[in-house]
Amino acid sequence: MVLAQLGGSISRALQQMSNATIIDEKVLNDCLNEITRALLQSDVQFKLVRDMQTNIKKIVNLDDLAAGHNKRKIIQQAIFNELCKILDPGKPSFTPKKGKTSVVMFVGLQGSGKTTTCTKYAYYHQKKGWKPALVCADTFRAGAFDQLKQNATKAKIPFYGSYTESDPVRIAMEGVERFKNENCDLIIVDTSGRHKQEAALFEEMRQVSEATKPDLVIFVMDSSIGQAAFDQAQAFKQSVAVGAVIVTKMDGHAKGGGALSAVAATKSPVIFIGTGEHMDEFEVFDVKPFVSRLLG
Ligand code: GDP
Repeated sequence: MVLAQLGGSISRALQQMSNATIIDEKVLNDCLNEITRALLQSDVQFKLVRDMQTNIKKIVNLDDLAAGHNKRKIIQQAIFNELCKILDPGKPSFTPKKGKTSVVMFVGLQGSGKTTTCTKYAYYHQKKGWKPALVCADTFRAGAFDQLKQNATKAKIPFYGSYTESDPVRIAMEGVERFKNENCDLIIVDTSGRHKQEAALFEEMRQVSEATKPDLVIFVMDSSIGQAAFDQAQAFKQSVAVGAVIVTKMDGHAKGGGALSAVAATKSPVIFIGTGEHMDEFEVFDVKPFVSRLLG
């Protein structure tokens, strides 16, 4: 179910309940089951949805509903709060400071949009007066360096990479070193992806992280991966110290549920979302407006 449809389904479930003459446990359960179904179809992880249903039942008091209070509003508020709770891990991620050197390492599966997102992140900061730089430590995917180089050139962002060196750790170290010397304040390291979670990928990530000592590791996740989001995000978190998440491809047929799962699995906030292939199709992520939109 795409984002726009989720709000509609939840609204319909709430409307049906509001229309019932008597609100008893069955009517409330029917409503919550309907909402649960909508969330699952939007790829929110099963356990998160189940916990949320239990919490809402604890919070919503049937007597209040029966007494003619605005039932729709009470339940809608409870759902809103629960979704915000899932998306807010309770502590903000490390935030780089302009003028002070930070190293930010990007990790994610191949095709997740990692390389595109590195440039978007650099471009976003450059427009705000930062001095970003891009390091291509992806030696696994043929053409990765060319892609980064092309993007970086278009955005006039300095870059570092190699056509001949095959050791990603070495490239990462050299690139970070160079840009530190050039007083760049945001050094972005793009790492290799793989088609699936593999031991070799995680080992490489660990080594690059060990060598470059990033201030922040950003996990990039494709919003269309569905119910696999939780396990994938957790696997990355177990290998490197993921501190923030960027969810890509939130345009088109995006389902929003994966974002909730990624936060729950990494205990890290979503900081930006990708909303298209272009450099400026990139938005700061705010929990409350996102959930409001989700609920329609
Ligand atoms: P990587 O293998 O993870 O580095 O992935 P790439 O950066 O090469 O991206 C894979 C594909 O996804 C490319 O065709 C990108 O243009 C596309 N892409 C990346 N981010 C977005 C996004 O937010 N929206 C859309 N529609 N496409 C995206």
